[in-house]
Order: sequence, then C-alpha cells, then structure tokens
Amino acid sequence: MIKRFATAAALLLAACGTNPAPNAASPASGSATTVWQLAPAQLLLRGGYDGILPVSEVLRHGNHGLAGADRLDGEMVLVDGQFYQFLASGQVVQPPSTMRLPFAEVTRWEGGRDVRVQPGLVFPAGMGALAPQVPDTNAFYAVRMEGTWDTLVVRTFRAQTRPYPPLDTATAHQVVDTLVNARGVMVGFRQPPYALPMTLPNYHLHFVTADRSRGGHVLAFRSRDVRMQVSERSEFTVHMPPAPPAP
Ligand SMILES: [Zn+2]
Repeated sequence: MIKRFATAAALLLAACGTNPAPNAASPASGSATTVWQLAPAQLLLRGGYDGILPVSEVLRHGNHGLAGADRLDGEMVLVDGQFYQFLASGQVVQPPSTMRLPFAEVTRWEGGRDVRVQPGLVFPAGMGALAPQVPDTNAFYAVRMEGTWDTLVVRTFRAQTRPYPPLDTATAHQVVDTLVNARGVMVGFRQPPYALPMTLPNYHLHFVTADRSRGGHVLAFRSRDVRMQVSERSEFTVHMPPAPPAP
C-alpha cells in the first residue's frame, strides 16, 4: 500500500515537473462568466499596435479567445490555453510568454450548449440563420466551432512600423489564405450589436487547423460538418492601456 502511494506520488511529481508548453496557462485561469479584453477595439482600429501586457498576464484571464500580436506582427488565437501566432510568412508559432499584446479578448471556456449548424452555412452572410439559437441579448457569447469546412478564408497582418497606420490601411495590405477542405477549430465571440467602440460587433472568430499549421482571422467560410457551441457571458471587463506616448 505504501509502495503504491509512493508510486502515485512520484507520478504526480513527474507530471508537475514536465515542462509546460511555452505559453500555456494553468487550467483554472480566468472567469467563465466574464469576457476580459485588453484595450478598447477603437484603439486598435486607430493604430494602437504596441504591446501593452505580456502573454503570461493575458493567460491569467482565460484559455479561449483571440488577439493581435505586438506591432501587429500577425493575428493570434487562444485555444485550450495555448496561443498560436500566424505570421505573414505563413509560419505558425507559439509566442513567448513575454511577448506583449496590444489587443486580446479572452474568457475561460468550460464548454457550451450546442448550436445546430447546417452544412453549407456561409459566413458572414448566412449567420442570421443562427439567430433563433443565438438570439440578440445584452450578453456576449463565447463561441467554439470544430470540424470541417469546404472553404475557409483567413487573414493575418504584416508587422507594422511607426508611425502606425490605422487598421483599415493595414488591412489593405493584409495576407489572405484560402483553405479548402479545412479541418480544425474556430474560437472567438459574438458580441452585442452595439458593442463598438469598446469591442467589435457581431461574430469575431479566429481559426487554426487541426495540425496547427495554418490559420488566422476568419473573413469567410462555407461549413461542411461543424459542431458549434456557445456559452453566454454576462460580464465584460476592459483593461484600459496607459496613456499613449507623445507622437
Ligand atoms: Zn480578428
């Protein structure tokens, strides 16, 4: 009996001693009732691309969500406590926990209720078909979709240099990737329709393939076989950045 206990303890120690992934958060991070956002969306839209808080701090507020990288050096997704950064070169990397982010929106994901998605659902034009299942309320919805898509169009950004242009200028030079027969996971949020300027209205989704080799901010898709789950969030916290430096 004692020996068995000792073995279990050794296994536990071994588990604690294994190196975590570069930026993985503890499973208990964040609140399952709150959407936590780093900086108002309007700041990003106006060219606020300098990182404010490190990945390690953002991970304290959730294991599910999306973000933009420092200097807008790519889009990012947070899936199951792990950030992935989509570089303009097409590379996908796990950013270091010290990298500062200018924008992030995260929550603690603990599962959700299923939303029936017909094959052939088109984003964004067809999302209104989900309204009976995802009705307009004052709540935010954390959204997770997993499965296969006939087509999926994602974008990422190139790193910007000072003086930073507004986001619509950066968007004019975005890097777009079209995936066919894409399998993977899509996470993000559906915010209330009046959410600007603090956050973005309607669906905001980021995608990463099952093999974690491609992805980005979702511009368009046509679903094939997708499981969608949503979970309501009644609280919204915005971490306000310090005053910007003089131009
Ligand atoms: Zn995005």
